[in-house]
Amino acid sequence: MWGIIATWRMALEGVAASATALAAGKAAAGAVVDAVAAVEDFPFYKSVGYGGLPTENGEVELDAAFMDGDTLAFGAVGNLVDIANPVRVAHALSRQRYNSVLVGQGAREWALSQGFAAKAMLTERAMQHYRKRCRETLDKGLSPYDGHDTVGIIGLDCHHSMSVATSTSGLFMKKRGRLGDSPIIGSGFYCDSETGAATATGVGEDLMKGCTSYEIVRRMAQGMTPQQAADSVVCELEDKLMSRFGRAGDLSVVCMNRNGEFGAATNIKTFSFVVATASQPLTVFRAERIREKTHYQPVDDEWMQAYAARIRAPIEE
Ligand code: ASP
Repeated sequence: MWGIIATWRMALEGVAASATALAAGKAAAGAVVDAVAAVEDFPFYKSVGYGGLPTENGEVELDAAFMDGDTLAFGAVGNLVDIANPVRVAHALSRQRYNSVLVGQGAREWALSQGFAAKAMLTERAMQHYRKRCRETLDKGLSPYDGHDTVGIIGLDCHHSMSVATSTSGLFMKKRGRLGDSPIIGSGFYCDSETGAATATGVGEDLMKGCTSYEIVRRMAQGMTPQQAADSVVCELEDKLMSRFGRAGDLSVVCMNRNGEFGAATNIKTFSFVVATASQPLTVFRAERIREKTHYQPVDDEWMQAYAARIRAPIEE
């Protein structure tokens, strides 16, 4: 058995290549890192890697993580500036006994010392979004805006090993130095090859309140199916936030267990995810929640075409 599941349609091309590699016997770790790096490299995805949207200071600060479900080793970077593939740095950090989570200048210095390539990650297109947003909010003042989305990818290989990796530019217009859930173990990602893995996307400040990914894996270990674990965690967290905090942000998750069974849950209108396993051909699904349960169906050609047009549409400044 092998399998791979990822948040958002943007993961499709990377997942497609890694699904083929997993089927041919590639290890889960390399498969998820390569799939995430493909998303980081694509300039039209404005919430991950090159082309990601900047902070309120106009800089692109990137967060990424990697976890090996066999050893529980993990590495993460936060607020990393101008390094080509944050996920590869996180993967390299996971091999360090100490100092496996680095942020800001320290993360950048370490990456450069290890030979990772420097690259200006702010594109002209991202600056157009930034200038537009600055003008739109002139009267109200800047605030983090829901122009975000994290790629999180889980892999299961033919040798029963699992890994997970995440990468994001975080919330558009975030404060310099802000971290979301994506580089935080247990919140944005968790992986244990004996059970399964989960990864999250949405408002990091809220996802962290539920230690969301760890909680999903814990429920799978207790016997829930991936779908039950995903739905119950998202629903309960949303209810709790509403009753105790007064509001709940976007919360979406995907998960997979060690048998390649998967689940997805969301509290937003449209959450897309990509999955392929030995028994499930590569598919982009569109998930929505109807009465406490997430339902999903494959997207159609029209949806795919509208998506392709949307991400490349000119930005009216
Ligand atoms: N969870 C990410 C963050 O808070 C953003 C997202 O996934 O949409 O940084």
